[in-house]
Amino acid sequence: MTKTKKLINNPDSIIFEMVEGFLGAHPHLVTRHGQTGRALVAVDGPREGKVGIVIGGGSGHEPAFLGYVGRGLADAVAVGNVFASPSPEPILEATRAADGGAGVLYLYGNYSGDVMNFDMAAEEAAAEGIAVRTVVVTDDVASAPTERAHERRGIAGDFFVFKIAGAAADRMASLEEVVAVAEKANRSTFTMGVALGSCSLPQTLKPNFSIGEDEMEIGMGIHGEPGIGREPLESADSVTDKLLDRIFAELTLSPGDEVAVLVNGLGSTSLMELYLLHRRTKQRLDEKKVQIYHSFVGEYVTSLEMAGASITLLKLDEELKTLLDHPCHTAALQVGSVTSGQRVSRSSGPEHRASSTHPGRRSESAGEGAAQGERPGGEVTPQIFRAMFRNVAAAILARKDWLSELDGVIGDGDHGVTMALGWAAVDRALDEVTAEEDIEAVCKRMAKAFLDAVGASSGPLYATAFLRAGASASGRIGLDAAALVAFLEAAAAGIRERGKAEPGDKTMVDAWVPAAEAASRALREGGSALACLKAAARGAEEGMNATAKIAARKGRSSKLGERSLGHIDPGAASTFVMLSAMAEALEQELSSSSGAASGE
Ligand code: ADP
Ligand code: MG
Repeated sequence: MTKTKKLINNPDSIIFEMVEGFLGAHPHLVTRHGQTGRALVAVDGPREGKVGIVIGGGSGHEPAFLGYVGRGLADAVAVGNVFASPSPEPILEATRAADGGAGVLYLYGNYSGDVMNFDMAAEEAAAEGIAVRTVVVTDDVASAPTERAHERRGIAGDFFVFKIAGAAADRMASLEEVVAVAEKANRSTFTMGVALGSCSLPQTLKPNFSIGEDEMEIGMGIHGEPGIGREPLESADSVTDKLLDRIFAELTLSPGDEVAVLVNGLGSTSLMELYLLHRRTKQRLDEKKVQIYHSFVGEYVTSLEMAGASITLLKLDEELKTLLDHPCHTAALQVGSVTSGQRVSRSSGPEHRASSTHPGRRSESAGEGAAQGERPGGEVTPQIFRAMFRNVAAAILARKDWLSELDGVIGDGDHGVTMALGWAAVDRALDEVTAEEDIEAVCKRMAKAFLDAVGASSGPLYATAFLRAGASASGRIGLDAAALVAFLEAAAAGIRERGKAEPGDKTMVDAWVPAAEAASRALREGGSALACLKAAARGAEEGMNATAKIAARKGRSSKLGERSLGHIDPGAASTFVMLSAMAEALEQELSSSSGAASGE
């Protein structure tokens, strides 16, 4: 397959370099905050007594999201990797930067990865005494039927919801009021998109999906998630009609109503074409005697270089009109003229943070006085434990392309890239482990490293798995068979708790649950740690294969429903890779350390 062409230096530093470029271009608007380099704050946005607005999401949607930071709009943004949610740490940094003592509102598009990462950040912010509320944007009509409108994805409509809420906060409305008006804006915003051509991640340079020369896909998501149907490409007017008909089916408009219109290009569609779409949109609204109060035509929420466009209508009332007109000054949107505000004066920064448990610090439950020798161990010694996870890192790297390809079919194509990043970070974190650290401390290190490196859905899911698994072995220095099984069960339970997916929803839970069950069965039959781990790997493999037979109900691919049939779930696949690599390493270490039979 031919590679796509991009102007990049190194795909691994693309986010850092983009942020640096952005800050260099707009130093009067935005500055960095905190240690991650991924939290940006408006220079005169946050101020005492004002509700802080924090937005964020994956990169690749520029000018969203960082382009909407500035006076009168968002106060701070957390920047994720390409098409992957930012992790909790930058979100927390953005939260601290935006906090003016009146609470903080999180606004972002409704994707399970973003929801889990923002929720984890909100939990930590609450622990620091910052009141956080969340409104997720759900404007994509194509992504779920009316009765499940709350499950819809957030796409170009982010723009309107951010603008309205940012204005309300700038006018010093209370947190409750800003939440209420953001919810109203979200309820009144409807988007339909069409894709004509694919986009490619900088890391893969391969089209994220394929689409025929004469085809279009109605309702495709802004990460290339499949829409509601492939059709032969039609004229600008009839495509506009198709998009608007779906919107009009949801949004009742009567003569005299007023709307704001956003015709948004996805990345490589000319402005000329966007104006054709607007032309037809106006004709249709004129027919209905609906007034266009204000129009926005251009690139507002893109999808890398995807070809295509979306149309968004926001139904207005007096309050929404006032807020739409409220001045703002950001890189991507300027309305009226703003008077410069005062930066929040209180000290803010990492030192402000209530200290959380250091991942390298030995857990309390290990007992401060306990000498290493008194702590329970097992066949899985500390060295073997580390070797197992190093082998996972190697195996994930080796299967990276496969995992991304699986995710390209039913998700957004980043799973291999995301997992490889996370496991490379885990590998580095394992270098820092000291001899006296127990399993729980090592797991905390792995969780933090993984989460800080990736975000996405897999970040919070695997990080929670590490944390829960580590806690199950609290005080232990190694694992025997029973402790290993408890470790796997706790990992599975952590993933279910964080993602709220059930077996049968077609997620990694469908590999973790049979893996943990198989391990526990092996234990009951008197199996060794190795026998239990091998059983877990086989259970994960069976679970992974079975995901091909079910339609997705959770995560990004749930929007596909039946169309996900026949494809295995990428998260279930990475679970299988992970457990088999653990088993493989354990077997190797046991045979090389003792030279004796493996005990199976
Ligand atoms: P993203 O979906 O944010 O792009 P990844 O591609 O890294 O994240 O991971 C996708 C995988 O995450 C899916 O294949 C699925 O197994 C898993 N997943 C998504 N949502 C959930 C959830 N709520 N619970 C459990 N697993 C989930
Ligand atoms: Mg993905």
